[in-house]
Amino acid sequence: MTPETLTDPFASKRRLMVRDQIVARGIGDPRVLSTMRVLPRHLFVPLEEREHAHEDRPLPIGDGATISQPLIAATMTEALRLDGVERVLEVGTGSGYQTALLCELAGEVWSIEIDLDIAARAQRLLRQLQYGERLHLRSGNGDEGWPEAAPFDRILVGAAPERVPKKLIAQLAEGGRLVAPVGPPSNQRLLAIDRVGKKTETTDLGGVRFVPLRREPV
Ligand code: SAH
Repeated sequence: MTPETLTDPFASKRRLMVRDQIVARGIGDPRVLSTMRVLPRHLFVPLEEREHAHEDRPLPIGDGATISQPLIAATMTEALRLDGVERVLEVGTGSGYQTALLCELAGEVWSIEIDLDIAARAQRLLRQLQYGERLHLRSGNGDEGWPEAAPFDRILVGAAPERVPKKLIAQLAEGGRLVAPVGPPSNQRLLAIDRVGKKTETTDLGGVRFVPLRREPV
């Protein structure tokens, strides 16, 4: 047993998670990999799910929401091509795990969550992790983006709109990139959309399954 295993019982689970689920499936961004090896994923799942926190699947976090499968978080984060300075908008804070990854890997993060209970829980945990002034959280409908803080270098959408979210793309800076699952529940594609001048270029990153993006506050 290494000293690290004694102080952090989940350290070896995280290392195996990254090796077997992330690296093995082709994710290579070293910053994403090293962050996922240290970020305490078990804190972002309900106590009764903690044992399962590093399994290769999404987990329920209450109120119908899920924490994404580790591979999905890695895929979306890698697709954002972060180098540490970017201003990032996240729609759908959920557990806050993806939010924390963004805080570790980008410059400044704005994250919106529509469900009040989920937002309050994520807020409490993320405050403990002390991202300070670099993280802005609010509850509300992320469909509208965060106009006061726009433009963003990157936008990550954690729930699936039926169509390409034009209002969010309008909040992308020149040269910016949005990563979102798009489509009806039966046929969602993970898209990376680059803003190039007045045009956009879309890359299809494959089929995915996310909760639908809600349109009205609940
Ligand atoms: N990446 C997150 C995924 C959370 S699930 C994680 O790994 O934890 C998606 C979240 O999006 C849910 O918490 C849901 O409440 C939220 N959501 C759905 N529609 C939304 C909207 N219009 N605006 C903001 N958040 C929304």
